[in-house]
Amino acid sequence: MLAKTMEEILRAEHPTYIGGGTDIMPLLKNHVRNDQDLVFVSEVPDLHGIEEKEGYLYLGAGERLYDISVNDLVKEKWPAIAQAAGATASPQIRNIATVGGNIMQDRRCIYFNQSRYWRSGLPLCFKTGGKVCLQIPNSPVCRAIYYSDVATALMLYEAEAECVENGQRSWVPVAELIARHSQANGLACSQHLPVLVVRFRAPVPPEGERSGFYKYAMRATIDFPLINFALRCGGSRPARVVAGAVAPEPVVLEETAHMLENSQAADEEILACCEGELKKLAKPIKEACISPALKRGLYQYLSFLLPLRKGNG
Ligand SMILES: Cc1cc2nc3c(=O)[nH]c(=O)nc-3n(C[C@H](O)[C@H](O)[C@H](O)COP(=O)(O)OP(=O)(O)OC[C@H]3O[C@@H](n4cnc5c(N)ncnc54)[C@H](O)[C@@H]3O)c2cc1C
Repeated sequence: MLAKTMEEILRAEHPTYIGGGTDIMPLLKNHVRNDQDLVFVSEVPDLHGIEEKEGYLYLGAGERLYDISVNDLVKEKWPAIAQAAGATASPQIRNIATVGGNIMQDRRCIYFNQSRYWRSGLPLCFKTGGKVCLQIPNSPVCRAIYYSDVATALMLYEAEAECVENGQRSWVPVAELIARHSQANGLACSQHLPVLVVRFRAPVPPEGERSGFYKYAMRATIDFPLINFALRCGGSRPARVVAGAVAPEPVVLEETAHMLENSQAADEEILACCEGELKKLAKPIKEACISPALKRGLYQYLSFLLPLRKGNG
C-alpha cells in the first residue's frame, strides 16, 4: 500500500514499512524475508522536512539521502551527517533511499545475503529461523554486521528518533533504537521491530565544535563500508568518536575520545588507543572481500579525521 497520510500508515495491522526499498527489495526477492503487508511511507508529509528549530536539527525519516547530503544547513552544522549520507551506496541509490530505511536496514552476512538456492546447501542460521550462527558456530546470537553509514554520524551527535510503536509516539536515543533493532534483526529476518520512525533530531552543536565522517570501502563509488568513523572535538561538550561496520551496531570509543581531549597526546597515541579499544569492542566476521585479520588493520583509518583536532580537515 502506498500511504499518503499518517492515519493510513497506522491503520495497517502487521506492517512492514518501506522507504526507498533499496535494502528490503533484494531480501524479499531472495526469499529471506516474506513480509506481506508492505506499507510505502516515503510520501507521507509527516516523514519529511529538514529544519533547525528550538535548538535541534529535525530530519524527516522519509528524506532521501541525496537531499540530506546536499542540504546547506546539515553541511554547515552537522557535517558528519551530510558526509555519511553522501558516502552511502551509489548516486542512484541515494536518490531513492531514505534516512529512516538506512537506520532500519538489515544487518548483513555472506551466509545470509544470498539466493534461496545458494543457502539451501547450509543449515538455517539465526537470521533465517535456525539455531546457529554460520560465522561463529559457538555464538549464542547472530553476528551479522550492521553497515549503516548514517547511523555512525547520528550517534556522533547523540541524535534521537521519534518513533510510533503500539500507537504510542515517543523520542528514543538512536543508539537505543539501533540496539533494539539489531537484536530483533538477528533473531529471524522476518522479526523486525514493529516501529515506525517518523523523524530524527540532533542538538545544535556548541560554538567551535568540529566534526566529520570518514568511510573506507572497497570501491568508493558504490559499496558498503569496510569501516567508518565519525569524530567531534572542540567546543564545550566532550569529544566523541563512533566507529561503524565493525559489530552488530556502531560502537562508541570512549577511551579514544578521552585521549583526543588531551592536547599533549600525539596522533600516534590516539591511533594506538583506538586500535586497542576496537580490539575489545569490534566483533569482526568473514566479509565478502576482507578477513577479520585484515579488518583489524583498518582501525588506523581514524587518522583521516585527526586533522579536525587542529581545526583542519
Ligand atoms: C548496492 C548497495 C550498496 C549499499 N551501500 C550502502 C552503504 O554504503 N552504506 C549504507 O549505509 N547502506 C548501504 N546500502 C543499504 C541500503 O540500501 C541503504 O542504506 C538505504 O539507505 C536504505 O534505505 P531505503 O529507504 O531504501 O530502505 P528500505 O529498503 O525501504 O528499508 C530498509 C529497512 O528499513 C525499514 N524501514 C524503512 N523506512 C522505515 C521507517 N520510516 N520506519 C521504520 N522502519 C523503516 C524497512 O522495513 C526495512 O526493514 C546499500 C544497498 C545496496 C543495494
